[in-house]
Amino acid sequence: MHKKYSIIVLCALFISTFTALAQNTPTDSHMRWWNDRVFYEIFVRSFQDSDGDGIGDFQGLISRLDYLNDGNPDTKNDLGITGIWLMPIMPSPTYHGYDVTDYYDINPDYGTLADFRQFIEEAHKRGIAVIIDMVINHTADDHPWFQASKAGDEKYRSWYVWSDTNPGYQGPDGQTVWHRGGDAFYYGLFESGMPDLNYENEEVTAEMYEIGRFWLEDVGVDGFRLDAAKFLIAEDRAQANTRSTRQWLTAYRDYLRNIKPDVLIVAEIWDSVYQVSQYIPESVDLAFEFDLARSLVRGANLGVRSGTLEALNLMLNNYPYGQYATFITNHDQPRVMNEVQNNIDAAKIAGSILLTFPGVPFIYYGEEIGMTGTKPDPNIRTPMQWETATNGGFTTGTPWRAVNADVLTGVNVAAQRMDLSSLFNHYKSLIHLRNNHQALRTGDITLIDNTGSNNVIAFIRHTDTEAILVILNLRPRDLNAYGITIEASAISPSAQMTVLYGDSTITAPIINENGGFENYMPLSVLPARSTIILKFASE
Ligand code: CA
Repeated sequence: MHKKYSIIVLCALFISTFTALAQNTPTDSHMRWWNDRVFYEIFVRSFQDSDGDGIGDFQGLISRLDYLNDGNPDTKNDLGITGIWLMPIMPSPTYHGYDVTDYYDINPDYGTLADFRQFIEEAHKRGIAVIIDMVINHTADDHPWFQASKAGDEKYRSWYVWSDTNPGYQGPDGQTVWHRGGDAFYYGLFESGMPDLNYENEEVTAEMYEIGRFWLEDVGVDGFRLDAAKFLIAEDRAQANTRSTRQWLTAYRDYLRNIKPDVLIVAEIWDSVYQVSQYIPESVDLAFEFDLARSLVRGANLGVRSGTLEALNLMLNNYPYGQYATFITNHDQPRVMNEVQNNIDAAKIAGSILLTFPGVPFIYYGEEIGMTGTKPDPNIRTPMQWETATNGGFTTGTPWRAVNADVLTGVNVAAQRMDLSSLFNHYKSLIHLRNNHQALRTGDITLIDNTGSNNVIAFIRHTDTEAILVILNLRPRDLNAYGITIEASAISPSAQMTVLYGDSTITAPIINENGGFENYMPLSVLPARSTIILKFASE
């Protein structure tokens, strides 16, 4: 069931006693452990090199864990990250790893299984959950399974999808999906080097179950990010989002839950909210919200709220409350800093929305310091920029990919730590606010429709004990024509206001007996692309 969030519903609450009673249901009844987390997506190859070979590795990543979270709630120096998604870490012939040759080992470029176990232990010690990329739609074509399959091995032939003749049809993007292998043709949705596994063969499914068990039980990860999940099983020419795919995922998660009851399965289903929501909650726990991501970038760039509000409403209407993974951009998209033409304030407003909205936020490494990069893909996966020293502090050797030149002009962690107005400090403050306020993590949301401006987004996140009013001016210029009005809300008329984020001269609204307020202007002029976060609680 969906939470009650809209103004209309909230007004109705005050009219109907019966509905008002229903509101006393604990606000977090649908919430799971991942709803309390802020995740950080890491490309191990680019995060930190420990041995001078120019390639990031687990020992390097361990040495940088304190940057993400030092495990001490009393310190404020760390970013406050509480979950990590690692891009593929298994042996692979490609730099990115999205084509695996051995599902039971670690890419030797990154270290050993022992290094990885040490990393898991160090992450857990700091309160950071770890999920890993599971690339199960296809293998690398030099995986021994495919080599045996191609050679006609009796057991492995049917582990992939073969046809004696070329079916000839194309993939969803017009790409070739049937590739010649010997005197037959095999199905590989992405490319010839990535043959699709045949999940209609129960042996393949059983093997993939065992692989999942291995990483959860023997190694100790907390869950998986499922790559290309919508393509697992084609039904003839229907290649995406088939019923067979959803049924397979449901059974897969059921199996994994028997191994580890609180396993997190977050899927990449790069599609519209209407398609994605078919999977939630029956088949996977969360999926990335690509529609919201696009609207966040656009809203931050253009300075108008309509697209973002529309995307937020679609999420609220189509998923169980909070059960979706939010993000701005990931390893497959141009970095947000490029999309907003290097405007730090626009990047800040995108980050504000990400970190105050319901859902499970994912930050792409380097996003918090405004790293840049556009296609081709290796350019949006460049080494992390720690400091101005050699190679940005990433390696003492020759980096596998050059560090961006803007490391020398302020786009690095060390410089931004010192600058209170930096993007890094903005992200850090908002992550800590989210970590410290349950209302921002799992609270209900009341969207405020009437802000007197199509540049201003305002909403209240609330639990039984606190209400947090978020006001975002998306406009690239200061704004004096606005005023926020709501007839009723969860804010108690007797509540005291605290400024959690924003100018200390902000004045409090006059709250009526229903928690409403009229034409509220926290500041007579809202600064361009600014974020205001106010807490209301009764002492
Ligand atoms: Ca290395």
